[in-house]
Amino acid sequence: MRVRLKKGRELSLKRHHPWVFSGAVDDVVGKVKSCGLCDVVSSEGEFLGRGFFNLHSNIRVRMLTFTDERIDREFFKRRILCALRRRTILEGYTTGLRLVFGESDGLPGLIVDKYGDFLVVEVSSLGMERVKDLWLDVLVDLYKPRGIYEKSISPVLEEEGMEPYEGVLWGQEPPPLVEFTEGNWRFFADIKAGQKTGFYLDQRESRKLVAHFSSGKRVLNTFSYTGGFTVSAFSGGAKEVVSVDTSNKALDLVKLHIETNDFSDREHLEVERDVFAFLREAKGFDVVILDPPGFARKGKDVEKATRAYKDINLYGAKALNRGGILFTFSCSNRVSLGLFKKIVFSALLDADREGRIIAYLFQPLDHPVSVYFPESEYLKGLVIVVE
Ligand code: SAH
Repeated sequence: MRVRLKKGRELSLKRHHPWVFSGAVDDVVGKVKSCGLCDVVSSEGEFLGRGFFNLHSNIRVRMLTFTDERIDREFFKRRILCALRRRTILEGYTTGLRLVFGESDGLPGLIVDKYGDFLVVEVSSLGMERVKDLWLDVLVDLYKPRGIYEKSISPVLEEEGMEPYEGVLWGQEPPPLVEFTEGNWRFFADIKAGQKTGFYLDQRESRKLVAHFSSGKRVLNTFSYTGGFTVSAFSGGAKEVVSVDTSNKALDLVKLHIETNDFSDREHLEVERDVFAFLREAKGFDVVILDPPGFARKGKDVEKATRAYKDINLYGAKALNRGGILFTFSCSNRVSLGLFKKIVFSALLDADREGRIIAYLFQPLDHPVSVYFPESEYLKGLVIVVE
């Protein structure tokens, strides 16, 4: 199958952007199938690359390569090994990491996370689903896991014409909680029932910084999920932590994480409550962490998301003692760092507080951002001294 682009539409591919939108396609020649591998050529017939064609999706082609190479098991092995090489620095520090981050690792629609001896994969492109045997075999061979679990339940599947799927792909079924280590900390990923693939691996670097600022402090961890930041705050010497989440299952795991990491003697309060309501009454904290879910999944949600970020940052700042530290995050790729800063600044102004940014936070190296694919940049955070 060969996809020929309209005149001028080859430019984004020449810049190695991995998506070809339906509007850029002039015609498809050869034996046209609704899904499969295809070559992409310019209007002049110049070879531009090779990728997954999907007639159902507005992203008509997801590029796998910009050179004339075969897409076979060896190809996937090369890509998965390259992805691993990018992460060698994490070896020995953690047994929980993202091994493959989709387009940014040259594998569109494939996410692979590792927790101890188990792998969790999330497939979100039809093409990747169709060549499952090729990459699954490589993962088994390379990582020799006890089991590989698939958790492909993202709402984007519908746009790809895919059905959600969840289940064991290979080997043993993971137990309800899979343990992994991160530095001196022990964590559990709730692979099946938890959020994402079971844990927020992407906050690894921020956990270290929270520990750094927590000594002797009263810390508020909102949207705590299973308490990654709660553990890091205690580890940094926090005298008290309050963890707030609406999920009581997540809060049970906060308690388990506190016990497992030997902080049972510290003062902890878990609060099952809506953060928006909780923050209105909160005060007297030295550190406030605001790590909400992605408020803007789609472009049309940005306005509503802006109001939600403004609200929690306003009340989050008010909950801080003078000289306290605000850790504020957004994981929506639709909300740029520039917009996020504006929202936070206007919240501080409304709270009648002074703020000074002392650090910018970002997704960690196992969630890399390909310079040619800005869409992969999603997590941003500000550390602000609030006076
Ligand atoms: N900070 C966490 C990840 C946060 S994920 C970590 O590092 O692990 C977002 C969390 O917010 C989820 O656990 C979800 O249950 C919770 N949540 C979503 N909306 C909420 C709300 N309005 N009030 C309280 N918790 C909420």
